[in-house]
Amino acid sequence: MNIQYSRGCPFNCEFCNVTLLNGHRPRTKTKEQIIRELEALYRWGWRDAVFFVDDNLIGNKKKLKQDILPAIHEWMEEHRYPFTFSTQLSIDLADDEELMDLMIKAGFQTVFVGIESPNEESLQECAKKQNIARDLVASIKKIQKFGLEVQAGFILGFDSDPESIFVRLADFIQNTGVVTAMVGLLNAPKGSRLYARLQAEKRLIKETSGDNTDFSLNFIPKMDYKTLIQGYTNVLSKIYSPRHYYNRVRKFLAEFEPPRLRPIYFRIVHLKAFLKSIWYLGFIGQEKLYYWRLFFWSLVKKINTFPHAVSFAIYGYHFRRMFVEHIKKLR
Ligand code: SF4
Repeated sequence: MNIQYSRGCPFNCEFCNVTLLNGHRPRTKTKEQIIRELEALYRWGWRDAVFFVDDNLIGNKKKLKQDILPAIHEWMEEHRYPFTFSTQLSIDLADDEELMDLMIKAGFQTVFVGIESPNEESLQECAKKQNIARDLVASIKKIQKFGLEVQAGFILGFDSDPESIFVRLADFIQNTGVVTAMVGLLNAPKGSRLYARLQAEKRLIKETSGDNTDFSLNFIPKMDYKTLIQGYTNVLSKIYSPRHYYNRVRKFLAEFEPPRLRPIYFRIVHLKAFLKSIWYLGFIGQEKLYYWRLFFWSLVKKINTFPHAVSFAIYGYHFRRMFVEHIKKLR
């Protein structure tokens, strides 16, 4: 289920049109509105994940800390934590321990962060201010240590990307233990500053497909096109390969301490997914060895991460399937 607390973002990355569409100054709902929406979901019987589909949840940190998160926390406690929350936000969350603490208490479990690139020049190029001159690995690990799973977005195809970017990016993803790593190709959506720049440079060739992981580009890249596509393919094959993917899951779970806030809500759909994972991944799939290693490692060494281990194994299968489908379309 999705709900939204705010619109707009105080940053203005070159490839993003959020600021044009929704403004620089985040517009927010009141705590009463948010609580009413949670109450409505609760009354409808929903007891699962809720995604805050904000452009950047922490665009107005003061209001979030003083008003919204304490109200959500109180409501969640009264209702015995019926939901788990996830959202999208910027990496400067790592600088605010009070905010991370309040998010955890309110029931947030997963945050999606636009990391974009480990290459400083590429971050400068796209004006990703909050990521520049920052130890990105340390920031991600700090958020993970607080008990939030970091999902991250990465982009290839910046003018400043050197040919070594592909190996660097895959290594970066492995080192951070970011299990859900969404790597896409740069595209220029209408209304973004990138769109205007590429138009002025006569490099725009079409509108975006709206899916930056479908191997399409809507402009002429600086890097040789074939090198870029081959490099992109190599990154995906590596990070989603069973060996690298399961290693990343282990790396993340070894350090991750999931907060214990809510009772376990048992659902038949979860049992079905669990049994299917055993059959498809443990007996039929190419990853069976890795699956069972992770399965028994989490059971024996870190039982509190067992549900995460099984979920990640299922996600990994999904990522590989999606990747194979995209490659088939390319040929
Ligand atoms: S990419 Fe994210 S941080 Fe950058 S302007 Fe868009 S919403 Fe804001």
